[in-house]
Amino acid sequence: MTVTGGGGGAAFNGGGRATASAHPFAGVPPEMRASVEELLKTEPDHAEPDVVFEHSRPDPDGARLNLRRLVRPYWPMALLAGVFVGAEALMLQAGPKLTQIGIDDGVMGKDNGALALVAGLYLVSLVVTGLAQAARVKVTGRIAASVMNDLRVRVFTQLQRLSLNFYTGEKTGVIMTRMTGDIENLQALLQEGLVQLAVQGLTIVIVTVILFTYDVQLALITIVLVVPVLTVLSLWFRRASGKGYLRVRDTVADVVADLSESLQGVRIVTAHNRQRRNTEHHRQVTGRYYDANVRTGRINSIYTPSTQVLGVAGQLALLAIGAGMVADGDLTIGELVAFLLYLGTFFQPIQQLVQMYNTYQQGQSSIVKLRELLSARPGVEEQPGAVDLPKIEGEIVFDDVTFGYLPDRPVIAGVSLHIPAGETVAFVGPTGAGKSTLAKLVSRFYDPTAGRILIDGRDLREVGIESLRRQLGVVPQEPFLFAGPLRDNIRFAAPDVSDDEVREALRAVGLVDVVERLPAGLDTVVQERGQSLSSGERQLVALARAFLAQPRVLVLDEATSNLDLQSEAKIEAALDVLLEGRTAILIAHRLSTAMKADRIVVVDEGRIVEVGAHDQLVTAGGRYSEMYATWTSQTAGVH
Ligand code: ATP
Repeated sequence: MTVTGGGGGAAFNGGGRATASAHPFAGVPPEMRASVEELLKTEPDHAEPDVVFEHSRPDPDGARLNLRRLVRPYWPMALLAGVFVGAEALMLQAGPKLTQIGIDDGVMGKDNGALALVAGLYLVSLVVTGLAQAARVKVTGRIAASVMNDLRVRVFTQLQRLSLNFYTGEKTGVIMTRMTGDIENLQALLQEGLVQLAVQGLTIVIVTVILFTYDVQLALITIVLVVPVLTVLSLWFRRASGKGYLRVRDTVADVVADLSESLQGVRIVTAHNRQRRNTEHHRQVTGRYYDANVRTGRINSIYTPSTQVLGVAGQLALLAIGAGMVADGDLTIGELVAFLLYLGTFFQPIQQLVQMYNTYQQGQSSIVKLRELLSARPGVEEQPGAVDLPKIEGEIVFDDVTFGYLPDRPVIAGVSLHIPAGETVAFVGPTGAGKSTLAKLVSRFYDPTAGRILIDGRDLREVGIESLRRQLGVVPQEPFLFAGPLRDNIRFAAPDVSDDEVREALRAVGLVDVVERLPAGLDTVVQERGQSLSSGERQLVALARAFLAQPRVLVLDEATSNLDLQSEAKIEAALDVLLEGRTAILIAHRLSTAMKADRIVVVDEGRIVEVGAHDQLVTAGGRYSEMYATWTSQTAGVH
């Protein structure tokens, strides 16, 4: 459908030909081409993400999203990072061994040549470690950035694909958190977390092997003295901080949700003087976030120094035992010093591993959330063999249609209606009767639970979604305008049309004078959601959009907003032009609009209770005639 006035957050296609021709400096002048090409060479090259938007092709592997699959396309780089990680972990262990040789051969053996050699090798090992680290950081940074870029595009594509039922069930703030917080969690994990896990894990293994090769007795003493306490401490930390960070994530989501809601409702907040109350509420929300942060800080402040004290205590005990062994001649001084140094490098990775575990945990829970989002199936799905709808005449048939937003709660029950091509039908009825729902079913925002809707004899479920939407237009009750030039807002459904065509549409809806009076004309920048335009102007822009799209079938949700008489007259005149020769469904809130339709359909509690032309229904003396009598008495009172 050509959503001519509503929904979504899509950006404009700024490269349409009308924009290009409208800019006097469009294109690159020949004398500047060389320098532009020079500049382009220095631009970072963004690999085209492998995402194609197709209704019939849901996200590949969305349900099986995991780290391995995300990194797989970049496996050569991951392999390279692995090599650097291995080199780094190995080189870090050269220090204590060189110290041992320096002490035993150089200092104790009074061999200056050996001492100089050791010092030289130490320097080389430091340089190599530094280089390996730098290379590793660069490669993992690149992998993380690429994976995140792919993922962002994938999530956005999925959000474009999902149907309305998803958006009514999920808060905007939560969806935004998936795109920001969750993806950033993963970035932290990919950039540093996984590598640190590998470096530290590898270091622990290497150091354990080294400790045992140095002295089995000392190694065993170390394990008995230190490992049990360290294990208990680490298990406590893992549990406490896991809970703590979960609370941090929950509370930060609350902060974002509260912020986004107040921003979206800023007008109502201001109008109802809720600023002070909102500030107090936000202070409570951020207070909970603050508390959660303080708690994790406290947990860290217990764990980190405790493990350090434990490490030092272990080293002291081993120093005492080792000194005895040196005195007995079982161990050289150099070996003892090396052993103690290795022990130091044994503790550090354990501490870091446990802390990394939190990053890992956060990344994993983000993966779970993103997996849920990516595997969500659109409520309206294109059938695999769906054929494109050829150019339609516009005949619409509701064939015993039943529909409910929630299971077992039908909002539309057994509706059958035939709308011949070219007819204008007005849906009227009490609020909540199901008028908009019927219109949404025609637009295929939802599929019926039972029964069928046919356009030109074809079941909507069996046709290609894009081919259907190209030929349908929707003007919602509150038109949505995107931040950007007015021109792009008007040609939203047909981005390639020329300025002349845009002006013709504006003329058709009676807006051309207004636009021509604007200093920037069609280039006038509309603020977010079209806030810089009046509601009547927004409505007319939405009608101009529909006019440009030239759909065969139009669904119009009439605005209830109180327009002044002149604007109302303008909109009615615009409608007359727009509806000419098209099939139209009008959701009429004012009987003055309904009266103009070829036929009026009275809807109540999800059923059609009356159908007929205005005069027919008035004389029939049914529900419509009651509504009409009430309306005429009210309008008589007004005048
Ligand atoms: P109005 O004249 O006030 O616009 P309407 O006749 O157009 O009303 P609908 O919007 O079709 O009424 O709503 C019909 C019923 O479906 C109402 O009871 C409404 O509460 C319910 N409803 C509408 N949208 C949803 C939704 N997304 N989820 C659940 N229930 C919904």
